Amino acid sequence: MSNTVPADLPRMFRPEPKLSAVPTQPTGRDREALETKAAQASVDAQFPLAAQLVAEPAPRSWSFVDRRTGFRHEVTCLPGCVVSHEREIALGVVAEDVWCMTAETDDVWLPVSTGGKPADEVRLLAASIRQDPFDTNLAKRVPHAAVEVMEDSFIEPLDPDGLATVILGLEAQLKQMRAVHAQLVELRAQNRVEL
Ligand SMILES: [Zn+2]
Repeated sequence: MSNTVPADLPRMFRPEPKLSAVPTQPTGRDREALETKAAQASVDAQFPLAAQLVAEPAPRSWSFVDRRTGFRHEVTCLPGCVVSHEREIALGVVAEDVWCMTAETDDVWLPVSTGGKPADEVRLLAASIRQDPFDTNLAKRVPHAAVEVMEDSFIEPLDPDGLATVILGLEAQLKQMRAVHAQLVELRAQNRVEL
């Protein structure tokens, strides 16, 4: 049996065309939510960094007892801090040893030989932002960059200009390293053993 509606039926008997989705009028509250969402999406698109910052959880606050003085200190973590601070909270710590740190850049491990000894895999050029809120060096009490040149060998505390200087120095060094690479490729090509 066909579902086709005969064309000659009076208008009043014709079923309404089926809609894939029934449109409804948004309520005032729905409309407000939609407008807020649209405005936020627009701001996020224009300011991706701001969107990232807004998306981050609020900084953690915690306290610890200074083992040297017995005083309790309040700490508000550096935004993005990845240190758990469980040990400091549970056991106390000397205030100068408190530090917050953001996640380090991805690791680069390369075999490095020191003093003619067999090479060890060593982590190179990791960077993160740190804050040591009770450090005797005041420059470390504010957010600063730390560049781990080689395991346990740091350049810090770096302010933005300091970090830029490190980056420019490394860029210049990489440029020279590329030139050395091109020279090596050329020399190896010249001296290739032909059979
Ligand atoms: Zn922290």
